[in-house]
Amino acid sequence: MQEVFVLDKRGNPLMPCHPARARKLLKQGRAVVARRAPFTIRLKDQVGGKVQPVRLKIDPGSKTTGLALVREGGDQAEVLHLAELHHRRGVHRRMEQRRNYRRRRRSANLRYRPPRFLNRATSRREGRLPPSLSSRVDHVETWVRRYRRLAPVSSVSVELARFDMQKMVNPEISGVEYQQGELAGYEVREYLLEKWGRRCAYCGVENVPLEIEHIVPKSRGGSNRVSNLTISCRGCNQEKGSRTAAEFGHPQVQAQARQSLKDAAAVNATRWAIYRVLAATGLPVEVGTGGRTKYNRTRLGLPKTHALDAVCVGASTPDGIIGLNGAAALTIRAVGRGSYQRTRVTRHGFARGYLMRQKSVEGFRTGDLVRAIVPTGKYAGVHEGGVAVRKSGYFAIRRGGKLAADGISARYCQLVQRADGYTYEKGEAASSHD
Ligand SMILES: [Zn+2]
Repeated sequence: MQEVFVLDKRGNPLMPCHPARARKLLKQGRAVVARRAPFTIRLKDQVGGKVQPVRLKIDPGSKTTGLALVREGGDQAEVLHLAELHHRRGVHRRMEQRRNYRRRRRSANLRYRPPRFLNRATSRREGRLPPSLSSRVDHVETWVRRYRRLAPVSSVSVELARFDMQKMVNPEISGVEYQQGELAGYEVREYLLEKWGRRCAYCGVENVPLEIEHIVPKSRGGSNRVSNLTISCRGCNQEKGSRTAAEFGHPQVQAQARQSLKDAAAVNATRWAIYRVLAATGLPVEVGTGGRTKYNRTRLGLPKTHALDAVCVGASTPDGIIGLNGAAALTIRAVGRGSYQRTRVTRHGFARGYLMRQKSVEGFRTGDLVRAIVPTGKYAGVHEGGVAVRKSGYFAIRRGGKLAADGISARYCQLVQRADGYTYEKGEAASSHD
């Protein structure tokens, strides 16, 4: 169940509760709504309370990061909250665009503002990530901080690497193990997918089910060592039959198999940066691998979504997961807080229009969640959504990416929640087995 976050009178987090209980508390006047998304109430008459261990689980991804809060206890874990955090897109493209505008203004000898600081040295600082990647780390950091304010988080799990080198090299993997789906087999599979670029080693086809394939077949004395394994599509696997890769016309596969994938490729820089952020919170951090996540997901019979993958991160995942019925992951989309640039430009970099200097109009800012009660006119009725402010004091209201109402006077708007750099949508309920 997607539970409601509960704060005590002083704003300290208590255990999340069932939505029905939250409704009752609100109706009785014992609580007030503290936040719309993620939905949070604050109790008016309670300070402190009993809390149980809550684990925040994170599956970092390049476009989407899965987040899950689970209550731990015995051999079962209860899912309290699921979310999918969509990172900002096009960071690299936008920075490249800005660079090109500036370059043009320099070379065309137009008005140009030179750099204010000699800050090139910082770009070579060790451990520095490019802006497109550091933005992902920052978003994860923001949400770890926010969830800690909403729930009594006592530990964290994160998927750090795709696979565990130790589990594969040592001990020697036998064929029985990977066929029967033991954990080591999942690690091997992730390793091979990474090494062979997630495509058939023979025909190069992508986005089809791929099988583990013996380069020298077992019938010809080939071993089960990872250096004799590759990834192929079903068609190639069958066509190859009992031939070796060289006999099948692909000697390069045999050569590539002998090279080992470096450990560095298994853990990427962004994940390490996220790990460092989590370690800095002082909470105990458990690390897992992609192979482990997939193994847990298969064991628990869960469908593949970012949020459910987060539930499956780490060795601490118990055999029983409850609370998944009707649990829809909250979609959190990073949208930023508006642009610094005040000049709108055409695609050639010429000024096309100017944005106003001040950010707030009549107490509202673009991105604030508002409720507008419009008495008359084309848009008469009640509208709730994100507001886009104009200097004239007549705003547009957007909902779900569409224009809901336009030219709405600030007089009719009530603030529901301040813009916080993210938009929120309810996701579809995850189908589950419990
Ligand atoms: Zn193929």
